[in-house]
Amino acid sequence: MLKFRNDDLYIENVKLSDIAKEYGTSTYVYSKQQIISNFENYKKAMVLRDGLICFACKTNSSGAILKILAGLGAGADTTSGGEIYRCLKAGFNPSNIVYAGVGKTAEEIEYALKSKIFMFNVESFEELDIIDKIAGKMKRKANIAFRINPYVNPDTHSYIATGKKGTKFGIPYEDAVKAYLTAKKKKNISVVGIHYHIGSQILEVEPFVVAAKKIKKIVDEVEMNGMWISYIDCGGGLGIKYEKGEKVPSPKCLISEIFSVFDKDKKFIFEPGRSIIGNAGHLLAKVLYRKMSGGKSFLITDVGMNDLIRPTLYDAYHEIVPVKKTRVKKVRSDVVGPICESGDFMGKDRMLPIVDQGEYLLVTCAGAYGAAMSSEYNSRPPLAEVLVDGKQTKLIRKRASYKDLVFNEIL
Ligand SMILES: *Cc1c(COP(=O)(O)O)cnc(C)c1O
Repeated sequence: MLKFRNDDLYIENVKLSDIAKEYGTSTYVYSKQQIISNFENYKKAMVLRDGLICFACKTNSSGAILKILAGLGAGADTTSGGEIYRCLKAGFNPSNIVYAGVGKTAEEIEYALKSKIFMFNVESFEELDIIDKIAGKMKRKANIAFRINPYVNPDTHSYIATGKKGTKFGIPYEDAVKAYLTAKKKKNISVVGIHYHIGSQILEVEPFVVAAKKIKKIVDEVEMNGMWISYIDCGGGLGIKYEKGEKVPSPKCLISEIFSVFDKDKKFIFEPGRSIIGNAGHLLAKVLYRKMSGGKSFLITDVGMNDLIRPTLYDAYHEIVPVKKTRVKKVRSDVVGPICESGDFMGKDRMLPIVDQGEYLLVTCAGAYGAAMSSEYNSRPPLAEVLVDGKQTKLIRKRASYKDLVFNEIL
């Protein structure tokens, strides 16, 4: 939903320079129509089978965004008690909430049970014991799926490959059947599914299918032992196009390939995060200063690694564009922030049109793992977030104040 009209970059029907003037910078800006269209793509791909599309809300847990997705009929994939809280507040039906994570605390498990979420994606034998105990104390039955590590290694950054041998995630593949047999004996546990999630920003369908086939083997073996697995939870991980030339499979292509691996009577859960919100959000920055140093050109902006850590953390690429097309001549520049770290950059060696001091840049496709991963490092107040819908803009998160920074401190 980003496009140039004449010399101005628009998001939906609003000029980004107008948003910058009205709300200041640095600011996250989201397109409601892009979120809807991304979600509908998943929904359409699901039509022939029963199941749920659970938005992975760790990618973006802004209340207004969660509310849009809840309204579209999405479920939620959560990874903490705090995320469950946010999702309930945003209007998700608890029976559409799944909860994964290697380190669920007793308090979080109790809160999830009390909230009547749909299922726990259990990642260790000891976690199973604790859930069984807590559920027993509360006189409840806990629905569970085991998260199985299928030992596949997709082509992505090592920090976001989660389904290969030697990562902390899930039950080791060779222990999967044993886990189900153990669960069968637990009084307060009800087995409803199987879960796997192999990683993030994956641009090929093949590793997903390899994982699905390995999971199918476990399902067959478990069912031969007299148990029934009704839900196949295939996780998230589908990538988005960050860089020109990158090819991305559609949800339809991915999902139909996975469907073909499993029997027709299975229900499915998908947990897309990045592919729902990634290209729907962008980060607006202002050029504070320009300088040449060591033979290089630097654009110093008001966006720091505390606002968007992906370039620093994963060496991630985000395309950066001036919001006004005023110059043709380009210069190779580093786009950096104000923070006292050499890792504080949004882009390196970018060929960008010459921009003046005070002009605005857009760091694109920052909707996923952007605001959600931001921090107050360097005592920079959390930034503002704006939602665009057609011609309308709405502030969905106020820029924090200095007072907010010290709100919980005790002197
Ligand atoms: C992070 C995560 C997701 C979402 O991954 P994306 O790559 O953002 O789609 C889904 N499921 C689980 C268990 C996750 O940890």
